[in-house]
Amino acid sequence: MIRDSYIKTVIEPFKIKTVEPIKFTTFEERERILKDAGYNPFLISAENVLIDLLTDSGTSAMSSAQWAGLLDGDESYAGSRSFYRMEAKVRQITGMKNIIPTHQGRAAEKILFSIIGGKGKVVPNNTHFDTTRANVEYSGAMAIDCLNEQGKHPEIIADFKGNMDIEKLEATILKYGVENIPVVMITVTNNSGGGQPVSMENIRQTRAICDKYGLPLIMDSCRFAENAYFIKMREPGYQDKTPLEIAQEMFSYADGSTMSAKKDALVNIGGWLALNNDDLAVQCRNLLIVTEGFPTYGGLAGRDLEAIAQGLEEILDEDYLHYRIKSTEYLGNKLTELGIPILLPPGGHAIYLDAKRFCPTIPQDQFPAQSITCALYLDGGIRAVEIGSVMFGRMEEGAFVAPDLELVRLAIPRRVYTQSHIDYVIEVVKHVHDRREELRGLRLTYEAPMLRHFTARFDYID
Ligand SMILES: *Cc1c(COP(=O)(O)O)cnc(C)c1O
Repeated sequence: MIRDSYIKTVIEPFKIKTVEPIKFTTFEERERILKDAGYNPFLISAENVLIDLLTDSGTSAMSSAQWAGLLDGDESYAGSRSFYRMEAKVRQITGMKNIIPTHQGRAAEKILFSIIGGKGKVVPNNTHFDTTRANVEYSGAMAIDCLNEQGKHPEIIADFKGNMDIEKLEATILKYGVENIPVVMITVTNNSGGGQPVSMENIRQTRAICDKYGLPLIMDSCRFAENAYFIKMREPGYQDKTPLEIAQEMFSYADGSTMSAKKDALVNIGGWLALNNDDLAVQCRNLLIVTEGFPTYGGLAGRDLEAIAQGLEEILDEDYLHYRIKSTEYLGNKLTELGIPILLPPGGHAIYLDAKRFCPTIPQDQFPAQSITCALYLDGGIRAVEIGSVMFGRMEEGAFVAPDLELVRLAIPRRVYTQSHIDYVIEVVKHVHDRREELRGLRLTYEAPMLRHFTARFDYID
């Protein structure tokens, strides 16, 4: 790592070889576009978005080496060289015996829970990501979040707010019965919990509970490299270890890994299910053949596997991870300096505006985070995503049950935007915050039975 202590500026550790123009729109155009989209930014055409912070998933810029890998990909149906390269890389990092490629993370979840889920089963996790919860529930099982108390308070500054609440985990196992728990999951970093990291100690303690009850531990490892870098920066004893060594230790406590390569493998599509248990892996591969493809491509092209293998080389580079974590922190720190409430401390892949404090006049059942999300688009053409009452709110016996956190996520695509793009974002968020009293609540005019946030439509409440 070449960084001199007398230099403070963190620069992008790459230069730009290809550019993609972005389109500017007027306020009046955005008013119409937003209305046509039913006040749901998911339904806006991407070409009408100036800065797209909807997600960091599948939006990474690939390196020249990854693009070169696309040409070099081996498209053989069975036994592709690109599969073996990807398998070797995933095995080096995770140490897992069986590496099963899938077209994305949720395909790995679907396969796993089709086999181990089902009615009467209960799956604990620090915080289930939305597709994970949906796949657990779709199988008939129940998904339970065991987030530690600090993680529920956006204003508390702590190092590892993504941690599992170990006592709640054990209580959950005892409450529902060991025989009904097929696996324990742990999500690193904790995406829905604010991109907050999980400590090595917490992973170790989760492992100890799993050992006590004879349960397998599956790591939802979408952001394993970012998590590893937080451990390096924050957890005693890890300063001198490489991100690869830290990642290897994290995975050593797990029996399996579900992965969206669209995150920390720096590609636009891909994923895996990695398992140590051979019998379970056989069942998963059989289902994979029905739903995804042959076990050496799993719904991907050979070139995709090649790009994943190369992306996994690059993701653990310390200069990359330093830039990644520091540039996200830059956005968070600037917003905090302006008095804008965000979930603290800044997470790895995103900054989350705390809508309850940003917009205290709108009650949670009128979707304050969705209203802020709409305003960001209207005022600056920025697309963010609501992670609050639209995504996780639910009706129970006719009453609205609000989630603990009401957030607007500004996810940062990997290697895509420069510091001046981020300075623009800061200016727009400040503008929306300055006029926060004018923001209005929304009501649903359409919702799907599952994962409603993707397709819901809204209107303003007068
Ligand atoms: C993205 C994500 C998933 C699902 O992966 P897809 O590739 O989008 O299907 C699962 N868990 C977490 C934590 C994620 O961030």
